[in-house]
Amino acid sequence: MGAHTLNKADEIGQLLKVRCGVCRVTHFYRPGDVAQLFGDVTILDIEGRFHCSRCNSKEWIDLKYVMPSAADRVKMTVRHLVKIKSVRVPVWRDVKG
Ligand SMILES: [Zn+2]
Repeated sequence: MGAHTLNKADEIGQLLKVRCGVCRVTHFYRPGDVAQLFGDVTILDIEGRFHCSRCNSKEWIDLKYVMPSAADRVKMTVRHLVKIKSVRVPVWRDVKG
């Protein structure tokens, strides 16, 4: 498991389970939401790129797909993507004169 893409996982009802080994916190994401950030890639492609929303670490992030039953799913808290904020970053250059 894990070789298929995020959108495929979303299609078949899987969730992306993300655990941070530093914070020891687990969150569940909709793979289709994650695909909006990283593109329709596999888990292997986002390994090392997914930051913990709490400590911002990416080295200790463990990603896997889970397939909750409908009964389990209603009890779970799933993170929904609200929006993607684009941050304005100034770029400076020193010019003579
Ligand atoms: Zn963390």
